[in-house]
Amino acid sequence: MIEASLIDDFFRRDREKILVGTRVNTIVRGSLKRYLDRRGFLEINPVIISPISDPLNHPVDDPTLSYYGHRYRLTKSMIFHKQLALVHFDRIYSFSPNIRLEPLERKSTGRHLAEFTQLDLEVKDRSRDFVMALAEGMINDAIEKVKGSIESSSLNPHLKRYARPFRRVKFLEAVKEYGKNFESVMSSEAKDPFWIIDIPLEEREFYDRESEDEEGILMDMDLIYPNGFGEAISGGEREYQYDRIISRIHKKGQSEQDYSLLLEASKRGLPPSAGFGIGIERFVRFLTGSEDISRVVLFPKKIGEYVL
Ligand code: ASP
Ligand code: MG
Repeated sequence: MIEASLIDDFFRRDREKILVGTRVNTIVRGSLKRYLDRRGFLEINPVIISPISDPLNHPVDDPTLSYYGHRYRLTKSMIFHKQLALVHFDRIYSFSPNIRLEPLERKSTGRHLAEFTQLDLEVKDRSRDFVMALAEGMINDAIEKVKGSIESSSLNPHLKRYARPFRRVKFLEAVKEYGKNFESVMSSEAKDPFWIIDIPLEEREFYDRESEDEEGILMDMDLIYPNGFGEAISGGEREYQYDRIISRIHKKGQSEQDYSLLLEASKRGLPPSAGFGIGIERFVRFLTGSEDISRVVLFPKKIGEYVL
């Protein structure tokens, strides 16, 4: 009986690991929340289903559900809702559950789950530099809180308060030096988190803002954890003007129809903004130094598996 074996698996879970993971998760969420609340952010409720979601730059299964004759997507990220929220508020965040039905190739990366939560935030009238500094402060603060309350034998032995600002490497320079697989090579070599910035247009979604100075280069960034833990954050400045959004949708070969709601909003006026998302379970994985993300999550949606 498959159903019974799901329950067997659950009862057999390594309690030590999920307990530490869940305690770290609790501390991290509290710390990130307090950091943002003190800086004037409002927490908004996550959106779970909506007619519009993140297009993502890589293929995932994109199921929809129908409700009273209307099509809804499961949220892959709240990017467009973050931009819309700034019509009314100045700085917002959400602990946002995302569904990304990733392909099997991602099964053994140790850091992908089909369901996860990211702290997704967005700030009106601010630049990439502003949110990068915010991220660095938030991460150091959370590390300090975790180190202060969890026994060090349960944590990543390399954890420390990292010197700021974190190093910045341009995407094309990283590729030139380390090749296409630069992220995992550089992450394994690094002792401190570092930024990959200026990611080319074809590597990312249409909503990250194209530079005014360099055609085809985006005002965006990823944060990479050291010690081989890979990607922590994605974010950037955003396209918010109708003409630019439409031209980016075309360049990406996507359909205007699918983003008509965003286009409609941009006609009425979306504010300029910058923001990012940080995956909570990945942060916990890094903090606990766990190779496999699923070991520190209570109900992990492992890629390609039938699970609770
Ligand atoms: N949340 C990210 C952002 O703000 C996008 C992502 O989910 O990868 O850009
Ligand atoms: Mg990313």
